[in-house]
Amino acid sequence: MPGILGVVVLFAREYRNGRAQLERDLMATARAMAQAVDSQLLRARTVGEVLATSGALNRQDLEGFHRRAREVIATTKVGMNVVLSDESGQQIVNTLREYGEPLPRHGHPGILRHVFETAQPVVSEIYIGGVLRKPVVSIDLPVIFDAKVAYVLSVGLSPYDFNAILVTQNFPAGWVSAIFDHTGTIAARTQSPEEFVGQKGTAEYIQRISESTEGVMETVTREGIPTLSAWSRSSVTGWSVGIGIPRQLLERGLRHTMTWIALGLATLLVIGLGLAWMAGRIIAASVRALTEPAIALGKGQLVPIPEVSIQESAEVASALRQTGELLAERSAALVAANRELEQLARRDTLTGLQNRKSANERLRMEFLRLKRSGHPYAVLFMDVDWFKEVNDTFGHEAGDQVLRHMATVLTSSLRATDFVARYGGEEFLALLSETTREGALRIAEVVRRTVADQSFPVVGQVTVSIGVAMAGSEDEDEEGAVRRADTALYQAKEDGRNAVRSR
Ligand code: GH3
Ligand code: MG
Ligand code: MG
Repeated sequence: MPGILGVVVLFAREYRNGRAQLERDLMATARAMAQAVDSQLLRARTVGEVLATSGALNRQDLEGFHRRAREVIATTKVGMNVVLSDESGQQIVNTLREYGEPLPRHGHPGILRHVFETAQPVVSEIYIGGVLRKPVVSIDLPVIFDAKVAYVLSVGLSPYDFNAILVTQNFPAGWVSAIFDHTGTIAARTQSPEEFVGQKGTAEYIQRISESTEGVMETVTREGIPTLSAWSRSSVTGWSVGIGIPRQLLERGLRHTMTWIALGLATLLVIGLGLAWMAGRIIAASVRALTEPAIALGKGQLVPIPEVSIQESAEVASALRQTGELLAERSAALVAANRELEQLARRDTLTGLQNRKSANERLRMEFLRLKRSGHPYAVLFMDVDWFKEVNDTFGHEAGDQVLRHMATVLTSSLRATDFVARYGGEEFLALLSETTREGALRIAEVVRRTVADQSFPVVGQVTVSIGVAMAGSEDEDEEGAVRRADTALYQAKEDGRNAVRSR
């Protein structure tokens, strides 16, 4: 849009400048033509002055004057004829007729009277000549004998003599140009001279030339053609020249240029919109291609990020890719940390054995397996004897050491596939899978003896009581076997401790 506005403004300026230049040129041409009209009139007047003071006229030799006048007209080619008239208005000599032939009266008595009264030369307006009965212009000069106007000498000019001034301009076809006398009567015209010569110019034209010597106006010609017209009026003779360019011709050029500019602009606009549309599609596609990977990334999934053509989108794609890699790294680290935490959550910090929570999970798992496949397992419930006394005698720190040492003895006495946990303060629980009651009792006995044979740090001998129970498919839950082992343990304590009992 700014481009279009700019072009329109430039075009308007160009048009205005062009029009101003055209108006200046038109006015200059009209001025030059008015000067040409002036010089034609003045030449005729000079010819008239020469003849008015000629020797033949001085000698009252009218026949000699007739001959002389014909010679001058023929050699100078200025004017159409020469007429001599007396005060009564009667023509005495007329070069259009042979000397002595009867002649009519002067065609313009008014002008004749004026010259007799003022003794001053006058350029007439256009009037109908006495002999030819056609439009004529005359320069009328006084012929003075003894300080008195004796005759009026008229140099007649045909309005068509002024045509040459119009013709030499070679105006383009359609242009209307005319030469007007000082009353605004048309003396010559490029268009339809036979119709308009001798008639007045339009009222508007006559009004404007009376107001100023030159100018430009938009007006309408006699035949009704709207024009842009320039005029120039001579201040010497009052004759004027008008040149009119039909508005239609002016506008045709304008329309032509406007059409081309409009077509050009429309083409540019269409190309521009097309390119914008294409660019928009490429951008939209580039951005949209990243939507799915971004959503997937948000969900923690990894989706391959496509190659995109737009620089900014490619930057976002690369950022998404980096984010994806970072997220994958973080997730892996988090999984590892969680696994470690889980391990820690199942481990007893004092002994490094599995804790009660882990033991309960393992019990649940083994019980489900038993239900599924019927494989029995044994529960060993172990409690350190007289442990309170150990604490009381050697201190809590020594008690802790006993517990740690007990853990190493238990793990080394049991099979790698067996499970052992610290179940409470000085209570331990072992799960022996795929084991019969006899097997379990045998292992429990090994554990009891190994502990009893050990020399514990600081405290020396420590014993343990063990309750053994078999989990069976008749059990309702995993707690059953544990409860039975606990009861067996109680029994072992009752029976004097450092013993194995089973239920
Ligand atoms: P018995 O089992 O033979 O009947 O006698 P006991 O003395 O072992 O039984 P009791 O259950 O009365 O005492 C257990 C003692 O274990 C009480 C408590 O102070 C001690 N104890 C529990 N947990 C810890 C621990 O983590 N470290 C230490 N040093 N002592 C503990
Ligand atoms: Mg106890
Ligand atoms: Mg105890």
